[in-house]
Amino acid sequence: MRRVALILLVAGLALAALVVFGGLQPLGATVAFACIAGAALVPWQVHDPDASREIEFGANPVETDVARALVAGMPDPNVLLDRAGRVIHLNAAAAQLVPALRRNELAQFALRAPEIVTALREAIATREARRATYLNHVPVDRWMELIITPIPVPTAFGGVDYCMLLTFHDQTPLRRVEEMRADFVANASHELRTPLAALSGFIDTLQGPAREDARARERFLGIMHAQAARMARLIDDLLSLSRVELSVHVRPETIVDIVPIVREVVDGLEPLAAERHVEIETALPETPVLICGDREELLRLFENLIENALKYGASGGRVMVSSMLDVSSEGNPEFRVVVRDFGPGIAPEHLPRLTERFYRVDAGDSRAQGGTGLGLSLVKHILNRHRGRLLIESVPGQGASFTAGFPPARDVPEARS
Ligand code: ADP
Repeated sequence: MRRVALILLVAGLALAALVVFGGLQPLGATVAFACIAGAALVPWQVHDPDASREIEFGANPVETDVARALVAGMPDPNVLLDRAGRVIHLNAAAAQLVPALRRNELAQFALRAPEIVTALREAIATREARRATYLNHVPVDRWMELIITPIPVPTAFGGVDYCMLLTFHDQTPLRRVEEMRADFVANASHELRTPLAALSGFIDTLQGPAREDARARERFLGIMHAQAARMARLIDDLLSLSRVELSVHVRPETIVDIVPIVREVVDGLEPLAAERHVEIETALPETPVLICGDREELLRLFENLIENALKYGASGGRVMVSSMLDVSSEGNPEFRVVVRDFGPGIAPEHLPRLTERFYRVDAGDSRAQGGTGLGLSLVKHILNRHRGRLLIESVPGQGASFTAGFPPARDVPEARS
C-alpha cells in the first residue's frame, strides 16, 4: 500500500506543477490523475499467482511467522538457514541438541565438524541436498543423521532464492542394535571357534605324534567329545534364544501347572547335585499353581536356574527351590519360584549385566562348567514371553537367589477367554 501512496503523491505533485507552470488545464490534470490512480490501485500480479501476500508486498517469506511456526512444529530438531548459512529459525529440539546455535549467526559456528561444514557449503553452492553425521557425546552418546535440503523460495521481484533446511534424525537406537548384532556375531564366532580349534588340534596330534599312543588317544578322544558337546550346547542355546526372541510378543495360551514342571527339573538334576555334593531342598505347594505357559520353555528356564545354582553355588552344599504366591511391586498377584544357593554369591557390579548374552562373571569358570553364557539371557526372554520378571539378589559370600515371577493364570487375559 505504501508503494501506491507514493505513486499517487508523485503523480499529484507532477500534475500540480504542470497546471501551475506548464499551462495544463485543471480538468485535464484531474482526468490524468484519475487514470494514474486507477492503474496504481489495480492489484497487478507480477509473480506466480500462488505467491503469498507477503511476497506481493515485499516481506521475505522465510522470515514470516508461518515459516517460524512450521519449523517450531516439526518433531525432529530442525533449523532454517538463509542462503549464506545464517540461522533464521530453529525449533526447541534443535536448540536443545545444539545449544550453541543462535539466530542470525552462521550455523557453522555451532556445527563445527568438518564433515558438516563441507556438506553445508556444498549444499549452498550446488543447491542439492547433502547428508552428514552429527555426533553428540553429552550427556550420552547420540548419533544423528543431518540432512541439508535447499529450499527454493520465491523473491519479491519474481526471482528464486534458496534457504537451507537442516533436519536431524536420531539414529542412536539403530546404531545400538547394529553394535549389539556385531558384538553378538563376534561373541558367537569366538565361542564356536575355541572348541573347533581344540578339535582340529587334537585331530592333528592323533594323526601325527600320538598315532600309536593308545593312552593318549583315549584321553584326547575324551577331550574331543567334551568339546564337541560344548559346541552342540552352544548351538542349541543359540537356536532356543532366537526361537524365544521371535515369539516374545506372543504370550503362551496353554494353562499349565508349574509345580510338577519344577519337580521334574529337580528330579532330572539330582545326579548333577550328587556329583557336586549338593543337596536340593524343595518347598513347593501341594495344590496346583496355574499359569499361562509353554511347558518346554518353563522346563528350560528352571533347568538353567537350578543348574547354575548347582554349578556356581556348589560350595554352599545346598540349594533351596521354593515357591509362593506374593504381590508384585505394582500390587498384582504374582507366583514366584525362588532358586537360592549358599555359594560365593555375585558381586553387585555384575548383577545388572548377568542377563546379557555371553556375559559371565568368570569366563574361565563358566567354560570349565560347560556354560555358554547364554543361560540367563534365555531365562530373561522366556520370562518376558510369559509376562513375568526375573529378580536376582546376592550378598557376596552368602550365596545368590534367582526369583522367577509369573502372573497367575486368572490374571492373564487370554487365560479367561
Ligand atoms: P553360563 O552358561 O556361563 O552359566 P549364564 O547366563 O547361565 O551362563 O550365567 C551367566 C553368569 O552368571 C555365569 O557365567 C556365572 O558367572 C554367573 N552366575 C549365574 N548363576 C550364578 C550363581 N547361582 N552363583 C554365582 N554366579 C552365578
